[in-house]
Amino acid sequence: MPGEPSWSNVGSLVSVSSLPGAGPATSARLVEQGLCTVGDVLSYVPRGYDDLRTVTPLAALGGKAEGSVVLVRGTVARVNVFPGRFLMVYLQDGAARLTARWFRVPGGMSRAFQKGQEVVLAGPLRFDADGQATLAHPTNLTGALGAAGANESGGPRGLGIRSRYAPVPGVAGRVLERIIAAAVDRHVDDVPDVLPPATRARLGLPSIAESLRQIHRPDPEASRELLDALVAGRSDAHRRLALEDLLVIQVGLARRHAEARRRPGCPCDASPVAVLERVTSALPFAPTGAQLRCMADVQRDMVGPRPMQRLLVGDVGSGKTAVAFAAAAQAGLSGGQTLLMAPTEILAEQHARTLEPWASRLGLRVALLTASTPRPQRESLLALARAGRIAILIGTQALLADRVVLPSLRLAIVDEQHRFGVAQRARLRGRDDADSGQSPHLLVMTATPIPRTLAFTLYGDLALSVLDEMPPGRRPVGTRILKGENARRDSENAIRDAVANARRVFVVCPVREISAREGGVTAVERHRELETTLAPARVGLVHGAMDARSKDAALRAFAAGRLDVLVATTVIEVGIDVPEASLMVVEEAERFGLAQLHQLRGRVGRGTDAAAPAAECILTMGANAGMDAETTDAARRLAVVASTHDGFRIAEADLELRGCGDLFGVKQAGLPRLRFPDLAGMGRLLDLARGEATRILEEDPALESMEHQPLRAAIDSRWAAAEIFGEEAG
Ligand code: ADP
Ligand code: MG
Repeated sequence: MPGEPSWSNVGSLVSVSSLPGAGPATSARLVEQGLCTVGDVLSYVPRGYDDLRTVTPLAALGGKAEGSVVLVRGTVARVNVFPGRFLMVYLQDGAARLTARWFRVPGGMSRAFQKGQEVVLAGPLRFDADGQATLAHPTNLTGALGAAGANESGGPRGLGIRSRYAPVPGVAGRVLERIIAAAVDRHVDDVPDVLPPATRARLGLPSIAESLRQIHRPDPEASRELLDALVAGRSDAHRRLALEDLLVIQVGLARRHAEARRRPGCPCDASPVAVLERVTSALPFAPTGAQLRCMADVQRDMVGPRPMQRLLVGDVGSGKTAVAFAAAAQAGLSGGQTLLMAPTEILAEQHARTLEPWASRLGLRVALLTASTPRPQRESLLALARAGRIAILIGTQALLADRVVLPSLRLAIVDEQHRFGVAQRARLRGRDDADSGQSPHLLVMTATPIPRTLAFTLYGDLALSVLDEMPPGRRPVGTRILKGENARRDSENAIRDAVANARRVFVVCPVREISAREGGVTAVERHRELETTLAPARVGLVHGAMDARSKDAALRAFAAGRLDVLVATTVIEVGIDVPEASLMVVEEAERFGLAQLHQLRGRVGRGTDAAAPAAECILTMGANAGMDAETTDAARRLAVVASTHDGFRIAEADLELRGCGDLFGVKQAGLPRLRFPDLAGMGRLLDLARGEATRILEEDPALESMEHQPLRAAIDSRWAAAEIFGEEAG
């Protein structure tokens, strides 16, 4: 995508086409990948590193870890070639042997391997079932090593440490490497350091030039430890860049927060004590302690002179609606109107159904407005709203459209936040009362259990209330992990049992349709299979590419019991409430984030019928999941979900293990991107960045001092770029 945000505004004025190797065609390809400037190129960090400093004798390969990239030298003993299909080259060194394999190779490639010739190869090491060492798709480095080793007398010498970059379509790997190398050579020392010197000193982090050099071109003498850290993306250099990105986000958000708070609000001056009393008597249950605490937070903000900017985080089922009700009551009993926005029609309807009886006990009128509200009804609703006779207007985000006029709008509530980014929040804030210049209060609610540290980053412009207590009587959802070859059969049996007992079942798949590169169980395919294997059960399908109407229709059919099983992608993650659904099967659960799995699990077990059997969640691991380290790691992650229902603990674990990753949804959120969203140990970095942001702004709120100029410039340019994106994505 052209015009992606530039990381570093330094070098951001120098076009990539100024680098040797980047001719017009190549530059165009690079720009398509967002590599527009030298700064972008320097931020194109390697995906990995291959330690090719020493040649591993074939006889020593047995001691190397599977998957590690090795450099080997040997004599060609035999060549098997099936043109267009595969090429196998057998190398020999004394008694030790190695097989090199390539698939779908161009016809002439076998000519590079003549029997008896000595060759040098580098590639990832695998062991066949019989223990034979093999290299899959190795690179032929015979020429390169010949030259490197020519003037050297000692033992076998290698090629140094090679940085591995994600390929840029249409640009040969070697060309890309050369362009990046030139950017490092020519420009790395001109990159201004966004981290203020005091911050850098305090945290003991390397300079930007040092970091970029280390990342692109590791010291050839690097210790094993340093190299491991680089490979794992945990080196000081990585942390340095990640911290910079986080700081740019945090300082940027904090400044917005301060700005928003300077605006005049619309105080809702009804007595909070009196409002709370009426709220609790209108609710059909006694609020939990956490609910009362959050209600008090909200009320305190709303009586104040500044617009509330508050995020309510509460796990699925923690009872956010009641808090929203208290907020709407504080506005309504002060004579103000509330706008409540949900991401989907179904959720909007659900809210209307829940809130209507509660609100009517306070004499507050509720109305629902969605895209499917018939026109005449819509017109009359809008007229009533304009006349100030509707206290709580509920609908989808289409309500953001300017046509809705609420003359005494005091409060906007946004449910299921993660579809609602910074840009939209800013737009909402912009709905100030034209006459008074007052901004409405804003309450944002999310069920994504965001670790505190991350919440401050994502929503640093919002104050935080946490619903960390479940209403009484909710039973935990028993969670099982199924792996191995019987996983699928066992999960199908469980589904069959559930359907036989008139229970409803969700089956969630990681992808919608086959993606050649990623593979994975697809919802479309799984739906087709289950229709057959589960017959005569009624199996439906819902995924994100369906139009809103068919999506709604499928969800409604499931909610109404006209479907027994609903095969879905993660579109169902957001808030849908089907109390009768009591089994959740997640296929290839290892492909999901932990917080996401927890969220999915929250879709079942919402029924209040204490006599019904407890809800269950089955996490299956892919058929390809083997015994390798990656699989073991995945199993360990899934075990975290199975072992606890504490969404915050799960989210913290996710953050530590995988970084912000998809939790961040940065593009949608309209935040500047992170170079390392998946960095492990992100939680600590976030804390550090937040501490530094606070320090910097305390000392220099307007970022006026010389040493804060690079930071300020980076915030301006990266936020501007991100905002364009946030708008597009939202
Ligand atoms: P969330 O939106 O946070 O997922 P809801 O507001 O939909 O949760 O509440 C989930 C369910 O719990 C609803 O059926 C609601 O009526 C019920 N509930 C909420 N608070 C309480 C409470 N304090 N005591 C009992 N039930 C509650
Ligand atoms: Mg809800």
